[in-house]
Amino acid sequence: MMYFVCDVFFVFKGGIYMKPNLVKSLSRHHKLTLFSFHSNTNAHNIGKFQTINDLPSATPTHSNIVKSGLSNDTFTTNNLITSYLKLLKIDHAHKLFDEMYHPNVVSWSLLMAGYVRLGQPNMALCLFHQMQGTLVMPNEFTFSTLINACSILANLEIGRRIHALVEVFGYRSDLVVCSSLIDMYGKCNCVDEARMIFDFMWVRNVVSWTSMITTYSQNGQGHLALQLFREFNHIRMNKPNHFMLCSAVTACASLGRLGSGKITHGVVIRLGHDASDVVASALVDMYSKCGCVSYSDKIFRRIANPSVVPYTSMIVGAAKYGLGTLSLRLFQEMVDRRIKPNGITFVGVLHACSHSGLIDKGLELFNSMNEKYGVMPDARHYTCIVDMLGRVGRIDEAYQLAKSVQVGSEDDALLWGTLLSASRLHGRVDIAIEASNRVIKSNQQVAAAYVTLSNTYALAGDWENAHNLRSEMKRTGVYKEPGSSWIEIKDSTYLFHAGDLSKCSQKREILSLLRELEGRMKERGHVGVTSGLVFVDVEEEAKEEIVSLHSEKLALAFGLLNTPKGITIRIMKNLRMCRDCHEAFKLISDVVEREFVVRDVNRFHHFKNGSCTCGDFW
Ligand SMILES: [Zn+2]
Ligand SMILES: [Zn+2]
Repeated sequence: MMYFVCDVFFVFKGGIYMKPNLVKSLSRHHKLTLFSFHSNTNAHNIGKFQTINDLPSATPTHSNIVKSGLSNDTFTTNNLITSYLKLLKIDHAHKLFDEMYHPNVVSWSLLMAGYVRLGQPNMALCLFHQMQGTLVMPNEFTFSTLINACSILANLEIGRRIHALVEVFGYRSDLVVCSSLIDMYGKCNCVDEARMIFDFMWVRNVVSWTSMITTYSQNGQGHLALQLFREFNHIRMNKPNHFMLCSAVTACASLGRLGSGKITHGVVIRLGHDASDVVASALVDMYSKCGCVSYSDKIFRRIANPSVVPYTSMIVGAAKYGLGTLSLRLFQEMVDRRIKPNGITFVGVLHACSHSGLIDKGLELFNSMNEKYGVMPDARHYTCIVDMLGRVGRIDEAYQLAKSVQVGSEDDALLWGTLLSASRLHGRVDIAIEASNRVIKSNQQVAAAYVTLSNTYALAGDWENAHNLRSEMKRTGVYKEPGSSWIEIKDSTYLFHAGDLSKCSQKREILSLLRELEGRMKERGHVGVTSGLVFVDVEEEAKEEIVSLHSEKLALAFGLLNTPKGITIRIMKNLRMCRDCHEAFKLISDVVEREFVVRDVNRFHHFKNGSCTCGDFW
């Protein structure tokens, strides 16, 4: 953790002027009469060393210290090590360390921290292993550094062993050690263990709160992250730092909670953190994930030198919003500025090409990824290409490509699931069968594969196989994840499940509004579901009724009832939107003259004046 590294440097930088220590160390080597001369020269030399920014000027100052006869002194050498570490010269620091007669805990910890800071956490752990063979006892800085090393490596096993040593050596109540432990457990996805440490802490500071909030945010528990963030603000012990604000903004992004995101943005501005690149990047990501690409763009344009991170957020955000041209323009701009794209950037641009029907451009980018940009295509990129080819009906090519790649089981489900959807769309039962078998074999998203395959059969008029599949699903106990949608109004989130209004106080109003809208849509020629599109999703006899009660429709009616006219209604959904709801949303946007944004599991749909930004292509 950076805080720790900074702490160490602060302590030792301060140490140079600590007279008692200096007297103690000097007295071992020198007569008192020499003290004044040497201490002044030495302090002067070290002081000089600390202002040096390059190695050539460092060497003469180092030799002066050697000449003054103080290079055997542990305290002096530790300061020299600190200075070399500041110049990022770990080899020089390590050489000095090796030449020391009596490296103390400070010398060991400094070198370990140096390695962690330079991204070599394994070296820090090796050093600790060596240290255990000496009589030197670890202190709180040693432990924080080691835990930090485990955190970077996400090595839970060694992390737990270090934690045990923390208990043995009595550092369990140390603030810095505990914050590092929370961070480590968080990075290793052990949220409960992190929380246990947090709860047991006697004293907490902004760093420990940040560690816990970040742990929740990074482990897909955005609700808890925001809850803790609110608690922190409530106790008013301190102001949130920019790390904490980043985590809170990220939590809003993953939950798609625009309202909370805007409030947090307000806090960011009030505390003057809006100029921070990290916070701005998080805000760009949050607004784009909440479907406000224009807000993202505004913040993005204010970042003086945007790195690959905000560029990628913008590119992915625009792509998911159906703004393929913007996405590709940003990519070109980024390349022109010599910013190297990463794997996610390519997921964004390929997605953009796929959703804008720019097949040639997409294939060209895909083929140049490794050669031109040094990014190896992985399962996500292959999935994009399969999707791209599948959309335009080039199913055989997509099939050949899918067959040619070897990926892990989770990625397999994604790749073949994409091909399965495309086969259904183009009525290719032959490929749908193989694709669904591959998905089922991967043991992921099995229910979705069954549903899609049975829908493919149904569309092809093969009702017998569709029925068989349905019975098989019942027999093996496979069931599809129930559809749910949520909407945020003011500071509350309202969750709706398909066909279920039992807990809703506005049940009657919602149903009568939906009935009224249904009537007005019928006047405009909307007929609703007639084919077997949702065959397995719902019981046949109740098909029409239940489809009209899909979770996003319930959320929409609730939104219409509870928000003033003119306000865009934003809905999140855990599954893909069905064709029927998509058609209905388009018409309703025209009927009630409102804009709706739906974030489904794949992308954004922005409904306005009777049409959607996806161009009915998703
Ligand atoms: Zn639906
Ligand atoms: Zn759409």
